Amino acid sequence: MNGYRTISWTQALAEMGVILRLDPKEAEQMLDAACEAEPTRCRRCGADRLYNLSGGRLRCAKCRYSFYKFTGRWLGRHRLPAKVWLAAIKAFELGLGGQSVAEVCELSLPTAAELEKTIQMSIAALDPAWIETIKACDAGANIPRRFAASPKGAAFQVRPVGAADEAVVEMPEDSPEPMRAFRAGVRRWSKLPADRFALKLKEWEVRSTYPGSLFELALRALVRYTPPGVSERKGGVSSVLHHPKHHRRRGAATVSAAPAARPARAGGLVAA
Ligand SMILES: [Zn+2]
Repeated sequence: MNGYRTISWTQALAEMGVILRLDPKEAEQMLDAACEAEPTRCRRCGADRLYNLSGGRLRCAKCRYSFYKFTGRWLGRHRLPAKVWLAAIKAFELGLGGQSVAEVCELSLPTAAELEKTIQMSIAALDPAWIETIKACDAGANIPRRFAASPKGAAFQVRPVGAADEAVVEMPEDSPEPMRAFRAGVRRWSKLPADRFALKLKEWEVRSTYPGSLFELALRALVRYTPPGVSERKGGVSSVLHHPKHHRRRGAATVSAAPAARPARAGGLVAA
């Protein structure tokens, strides 16, 4: 697959193993370090003079508002141990499907799907042309079904165009190679619900065209603040089940070894 990172089973397991062997504190430090790219500010007044409270909360020195360090960031949408987050990001980079993410990260399938959606949305949000679509995907209404894909240098880009009765992606007949693979994917994804379809298109664009590490890109995207109009929290039973405290009680070192990693899909060919 052109423009696509293809790695072996062994390498996929080795990469996931590095994450799984992290000390929970180390994992937290990795997330904290990533957050420095987008310094924490008060969620109410925007001030940056904050002090630490117990339990990982912060308080604004100006307006006294208190909140968690990830509140308002994409990361803050799911209250999960740092190590689970990192494992989920690695699984995303490796192109493992939701089922594998659920197994590797010991999450329910709906939570794994929500996590994947949050990662996809955070990455799409790096592109200003996608902000309205992200809001629609979050709200579950008015999600574009018509998109246009056009060559951009040796790669391509996908833009939302508007409503349609069914999934449509306009693209030139005579497309360069990365777009031909994309075209094949579109046929498979067109059966997905509207939000998954839209986000899958953008994910594929990024996977096919981003030259650097997808893990680092996703981490950088996830520590950013969500655009106004996107919900800050994804509640629900599945998130509650995986509250850090709950995890400790279950004695799970949050993540276990990864028999779930499937080599055939390690190249990232996720058919949803
Ligand atoms: Zn404040």
